[in-house]
Amino acid sequence: MNQTNQQGQKSGLKCPQCGNFIETSVTELLHAQGLRCSHCNLLLTINRHESRQAMEILQKVEDASKNLEKASTFKR
Ligand SMILES: [Zn+2]
Repeated sequence: MNQTNQQGQKSGLKCPQCGNFIETSVTELLHAQGLRCSHCNLLLTINRHESRQAMEILQKVEDASKNLEKASTFKR
C-alpha cells in the first residue's frame, strides 16, 4: 500500500466493495452524511464518533486552507 499523494489535489477514498476511487473534498467529508460510490452505488456512512480524531485532523486541514485563501486575498 502506497499512500503517496502524487496525483496532486485529488482527494478521496477507495470504495471497499469495488475498489473504485471516490473523489471527494475535505469539506464534503466533514459535512456530508455519507458518500456514494458512483461505480457500484455502495453508500459509505461516516462514523463520526469512531473517526473523531480523523475528523479533527480534516477540520484542521479545512481551516488551514481557508486561512490560506484569506491570506492570498488580503495583500499587504
Ligand atoms: Zn464501489
